[in-house]
Amino acid sequence: MMSVLMPQELRRQILEEARLAHPAECCGLLEGAREGGRFRIAALYPARNLSSDPHRFEIDPRDRIAAQRRARERAAAVIGCYHSHPDGRAMPSIADRAGAGEDDFLWLIAGGEVLNAFVYSRGVFTGADWVTSSA
Ligand SMILES: [Zn+2]
Repeated sequence: MMSVLMPQELRRQILEEARLAHPAECCGLLEGAREGGRFRIAALYPARNLSSDPHRFEIDPRDRIAAQRRARERAAAVIGCYHSHPDGRAMPSIADRAGAGEDDFLWLIAGGEVLNAFVYSRGVFTGADWVTSSA
């Protein structure tokens, strides 16, 4: 079973970025640590979306490199990404399936006020549960 622990403040930040980016998609990277099936998110790195297609996102590779460097400095790692779906569907799209590559990578997808978590591995997105307590 996979689960995700993230401060409410970061959840609000992603939903706000999604509102501001609308009708395009917002995107960014997630810093944290993975312990077995649990993803613990500690920070967000908003990124530029290079895609000209409003139904896709493409994280600027410079932003990815900068996020990886800062995460390493904090003894953490980039463990996932987030983006929004302006049509309100908080589920992986066909474009997401085509664009996903890294195994055991966390994907947060915002649609309206909903934020869902998925883990991509070997061609499949699997839903992950939110955990509200660090216990
Ligand atoms: Zn998507």
